Amino acid sequence: MGFAMLSPSYEGNGNMAAPQNQIEADFVIVGAGSAGCALAARLSEDPATRVILIEAGGDDTNRWIHIPLGFGKTFADPSVNWCYETEPDVGAAGRKVFWPRGKVLGGSSSINGMVYIRGQAEDFDHWRQLGCTGWSFADVLPYFKRAEHQVRGADEFHGTGGPLCVSDVPDHHPICEAFIAGAMALGYERNDDFNGARQDGVGYHQTTTRNGRRCSTAVGYLRPVMQRPNLRVVTEALSERIELAGRRATGIVFSRHGETWTARAGREVILCSGAVNSPQLLMLSGIGPQEPLSGFGIPVVHALPGVGQSLQDHYSAPIKLKARLPITVNDVMLSNVRKVQEGLKYYLFRNGALATISSPAALFIRTRPELASPDVKISISPFSADRPQDGLHKWSGFTTIAYQLRPESRGEIRLKSANPADPPAMIPNYLSEETDRRAIVDGLKTARQILAGPHLAPFIASEYLPGPAVQSDEELLDYARQRGGTVYHPTSTCKMGIDPMAVVGPDLRVHGIAGLRVADASVMPTVVSGNTNAATIMIGEKCADLVREDLRAAA
Ligand SMILES: Cc1cc2nc3c(=O)[nH]c(=O)nc-3n(C[C@H](O)[C@H](O)[C@H](O)COP(=O)(O)OP(=O)(O)OC[C@H]3O[C@@H](n4cnc5c(N)ncnc54)[C@H](O)[C@@H]3O)c2cc1C
Repeated sequence: MGFAMLSPSYEGNGNMAAPQNQIEADFVIVGAGSAGCALAARLSEDPATRVILIEAGGDDTNRWIHIPLGFGKTFADPSVNWCYETEPDVGAAGRKVFWPRGKVLGGSSSINGMVYIRGQAEDFDHWRQLGCTGWSFADVLPYFKRAEHQVRGADEFHGTGGPLCVSDVPDHHPICEAFIAGAMALGYERNDDFNGARQDGVGYHQTTTRNGRRCSTAVGYLRPVMQRPNLRVVTEALSERIELAGRRATGIVFSRHGETWTARAGREVILCSGAVNSPQLLMLSGIGPQEPLSGFGIPVVHALPGVGQSLQDHYSAPIKLKARLPITVNDVMLSNVRKVQEGLKYYLFRNGALATISSPAALFIRTRPELASPDVKISISPFSADRPQDGLHKWSGFTTIAYQLRPESRGEIRLKSANPADPPAMIPNYLSEETDRRAIVDGLKTARQILAGPHLAPFIASEYLPGPAVQSDEELLDYARQRGGTVYHPTSTCKMGIDPMAVVGPDLRVHGIAGLRVADASVMPTVVSGNTNAATIMIGEKCADLVREDLRAAA
């Protein structure tokens, strides 16, 4: 059960839709993830504003959530993870690609790789150019800063005192050091702040951790405000549809422990259910592309063709190395003595193998000289696995991965059934555009160049994947299709904008429906050039201000 639950006064004993199965607030938020926790915490700062936050998952008590290396343990754990998979995707050689998403307080911020990257200033300026007034880099920077507690201190780009703690990686692993030196030897500049003046170059990531423990949005935003009497968090509650009175959202119908409940919203319903489930909920409620909804017998309330469309994701391809020295995280996991040593080290100093995030260091490159900003990211991890959900290799290994930052391929989320408990179809269409195919091949080639240099050579026994037989561009592309995967950044399925495929406007209100907004990764007009958690939290922060401006205007 969640660390807050339905208060006893709200516990009903009736069955379907009995009056006692109703709760009410000014705002009903669906999804306690990266955006939802930030939004709920900000809106409930005003004691006069009553907020209900509905979350399908449970409390974040699983201890692996809070230990950085525990990322591997929650990666495919259905008790905290939706464990989705895509439809067979032609771009991924016909494979279904595993899509973990958080199903727990904190959402995907409770199971993600903890890399803190905002994207490029150019991303947000591009959003503004697409018609999203108020979303240029200058507009959104204050929200990134407001969210942040930067352990290095405040400056032009960073804030302190915010709920999201941003820390440096505690250890400089020799393999990461060699990767950085190897990239610099090829002419790439050192960059100690990818979220500063420029993203280009090589260096260590910063992380969403505090004192060596994960700082999810549940930890940073929600826990400190859980006792507010005007905030009610309802866990283990699956939202099934938006309750509508004509074209106005009036609440959310959800099921909890076999009972059906309604959460009525005096002012607004705000979907923060993520890039898979926000479009699903809209479609289940009759808001979306007309034909498929009718096909499932769902009455169309408002035909909005862009719902579920414009899906973007970062598709990556790995290079996996067998290591020459027993210094990788794999080696720690192979030895009981070392596991105990590392456990103690973590307990005492909050560093060592257990404090390792998904990829401690990275290089941002421009694969073509005419580009205005990096288009490919190559990151390094001092461990290796065939599939993360199967555990680390039983031999000493490490990994680099390359992915294109601004994919041009577009996919979609479609309903598979009218049952809210069934996952929708995820159709990413990976590598369907030539730019994307070329970029991933160029990324793999640059990674190999670094690996072939003198800095990493002492650490490499052999290239395990793709292996020396894979050399030509065609072979590398085929390998990327066969063995690549997502870096878990689906976005844009309820994209913000003013074009016919936009689902929300720059005020995050759903076009054509009153009292309804979406605020999560699904509203990004285009995926940001990097990891998506920070930008999603920024969206939650900004949504709170948009709502408060409207409240002030109405007062
Ligand atoms: C394995 C993994 C690794 C990642 N690594 C990184 C990283 O290192 N750095 C980074 O920046 N980004 C990373 N990301 C991406 C980042 O975490 C996400 O983009 C971000 O968390 C998305 O936030 P969101 O608010 O859109 O959705 P989420 O955080 O996923 O929140 C949605 C919430 O809504 C709930 N929900 C969904 N449907 C319903 C329903 N019907 N009823 C009630 N509740 C519902 C879900 O359970 C969930 O809690 C990673 C993601 C994953 C999965």
